[in-house]
Amino acid sequence: MRIFTAALATETNTFSPICIDRRAFEDSLYAPPGQHPATPTLCTAPITVGRKVCTDKGWTLIEGTATWADPAGLVNRQTFESLRDEILDQLGAAMPVDAVVLGLHGAMVADGYLDPEGDLLTRIREIIGPDILLCAELDPHSHLTAKRVAAADFFVVFKEFPHTDFVDRAEDLWRIAVDTLEGRVKPAMSVFDCRMIDIFPTSREPMRSFVDRLMAIEQVDPEVLSLSVIHGFMAGDVPEMGTKTIAVTNGNADKGAMLARDLGLELFAKRGTFMMPQIDEKSALDQALAYPQGPVVIADMWDNPGGGTAGDATVILAEMLARGVTDAAVGMIWDPIAVQICMAAGEGAEIPLRFGAKSAPGTGHPVDGLVTVVKVVPNAEMRFGDSIAPFGDAAHIRLEGIDIILSSVRVQSYDPSLFTALGIDPTAKHLLVIKSTNHFYAAFSQIAAEILYCAAGTPYPNNPAKTAYRHVRRDIWPIMANPHDTPEGSEAA
Ligand SMILES: [Zn+2]
Repeated sequence: MRIFTAALATETNTFSPICIDRRAFEDSLYAPPGQHPATPTLCTAPITVGRKVCTDKGWTLIEGTATWADPAGLVNRQTFESLRDEILDQLGAAMPVDAVVLGLHGAMVADGYLDPEGDLLTRIREIIGPDILLCAELDPHSHLTAKRVAAADFFVVFKEFPHTDFVDRAEDLWRIAVDTLEGRVKPAMSVFDCRMIDIFPTSREPMRSFVDRLMAIEQVDPEVLSLSVIHGFMAGDVPEMGTKTIAVTNGNADKGAMLARDLGLELFAKRGTFMMPQIDEKSALDQALAYPQGPVVIADMWDNPGGGTAGDATVILAEMLARGVTDAAVGMIWDPIAVQICMAAGEGAEIPLRFGAKSAPGTGHPVDGLVTVVKVVPNAEMRFGDSIAPFGDAAHIRLEGIDIILSSVRVQSYDPSLFTALGIDPTAKHLLVIKSTNHFYAAFSQIAAEILYCAAGTPYPNNPAKTAYRHVRRDIWPIMANPHDTPEGSEAA
């Protein structure tokens, strides 16, 4: 067997001021064929898992380009087209192949392309023809367009949010691909549109039990090859944004459609109950400072570069400075210019510095102060599960008793190792302020005495009922109360 693999991924917040060009892909991950590191990143596990599967089987894996840009705003048109064409050319040169197995994210929007992954998959289908297997792993924070469903044989989506299972799902993807190529199964994909916009952390109920049940059904029913939920990505203003359920069965599309519908209507019945309770910055600091032991983690949940924002909001920090809070660390605030100034000043220097809140409205004001440059680290990194997340040249500054990390690559706060990388012991602080909606939970819950979810400022379009969408359909909850037109509270069986 000859199998082609590649990865092209980012998550586009169409409301973000941070546009993405080729350099942004190169800054996060750009691996030409064969150059992908042994450790997978979020959307490239199909490549590393594929190496192992094909070695075990004695099959030939032909690697194309693997690239990922950290979530941000619109992707430059030429950047998308050139990366797409690079992969299509590699596939063309690799033909004939028996299968194409991709790592995508699924929430990219490029200038001139509302559905770039649909465009890529359709062009791949044109190259390989109707009978060759085409499948991909997706992030649940993506858009499942009809074009993608038509082009691909099946998708497997991360079940967990935080996405702790991206390697496990890549293994599912490959297992189904191998079973298909060896003639044991014939995957049929069925999709149900839940007509809702919501956020589904699996670290809490009711989504925890829902995901456990998906896995239980996969275990007990041999006809069910894979069940997935596309959560959707509310910061992507595209026509087919929203929550969808996917059932991949062994050739039983009717059964898959029923299963996807039942599961989808169950999610719809629970709409609005999935998200964690949120408090503003004043309540968050009241609670954190009153808490008897530390560290208390305050998640600046909507200024999450993982959702495409700049990650430079200062609303919580300003409140901390106003209250004279000490014994606290902030990790991190994106400000490459300030980092450059700190590196030029050198460790130990005391300098006047303006930092933060330079990129978007609703994120507070730049902070001015006499800061001490405690430590500078070129090419700093933190852990993220089994992989590594770089955050670029970074500076640890101290301002009025608060330790603050400034970064030059926008990335969310995945793991407490971001603090240790800059010489701060996170377990020794009473208060840690981080930027992440939920991915931080897996690692930070290991050290946190308490976790508070704080909605500070308006860095992100987190209220779909009020967001000024131009492309999103109007017949979707919460824009419309009940688009399924079923009696409230009924399961609509
Ligand atoms: Zn995601």
